[in-house]
Amino acid sequence: MPAFICITCGTQYAPSAQPPAHCRICEEERQYVNIDGQQWATLDELRESGRYSNRIEQISERIYSITTAPKFAIGQTAYFIKGQKVNLLWDAVTFLDEETSRFFEQQGGIDAIALSHPHYYCAVAEWSEEFKADVYIHEADAEWIVNPGSRFELWSGKSLQLSEEFTLHQLGGHFAGAAIAHADIGKGIVFSGDVIQVASDRNWTSFMYSYPNMIPLPIPVIKRMKQDISRLVFDELYNAFDRKVAPDAKEKVLKSADRYIQALNGELFDT
Ligand SMILES: [Zn+2]
Ligand SMILES: [Zn+2]
Repeated sequence: MPAFICITCGTQYAPSAQPPAHCRICEEERQYVNIDGQQWATLDELRESGRYSNRIEQISERIYSITTAPKFAIGQTAYFIKGQKVNLLWDAVTFLDEETSRFFEQQGGIDAIALSHPHYYCAVAEWSEEFKADVYIHEADAEWIVNPGSRFELWSGKSLQLSEEFTLHQLGGHFAGAAIAHADIGKGIVFSGDVIQVASDRNWTSFMYSYPNMIPLPIPVIKRMKQDISRLVFDELYNAFDRKVAPDAKEKVLKSADRYIQALNGELFDT
């Protein structure tokens, strides 16, 4: 049976004879249903179309970005970070083909896949099977797993150390289980998914409950996220859309949290 993929959010559902009646992810208030109506595809159809490929770029000695071109669904960028012992895929993209598999095999394979939040669960069951890699998802978001692969590991609490170099931190906000990854690879680097979003000028960040529907987060949540972020040591930050904050990423994120609170409090402007 085919595993249908929602073309708006890129989420692959468990195999079924007919496409699902709805996409739970898109019908929820943090996403949106395609204005042309719900549409589905399968990974085979995407491959056979010949339209898509994954653009993989080495962006530093040990970090690669992966983005599907042309843009598919949300259009996020995933990151592959080569570790001393563990190679980590942070977030994922839906599209997977032989060329992509060959690239990662040449890099020593993917040992672990960690996901920031349900908008990027995409076709991760396929990726985990292909690379025999466990998938780490915070248990607070377990209800959003719509295609449970055999290698899903739910984690709980505020943080999970994956290796000496990689630690996941649950910040919440965008989703209850929303997490970021911290890499200690010579310098501290945060991979933030959509949990911390990077502004156009790369010197500011923001935090939202829903980006497409522009629903902000309340002040107590921003304060809690700020407190959690202040405990981390990092100088660079990569979001899910190929944007990097560096140097002084931590200071810029904390300053952005303060500005957000001022804005919600009515202290930033008088319009
Ligand atoms: Zn969807
Ligand atoms: Zn999101």
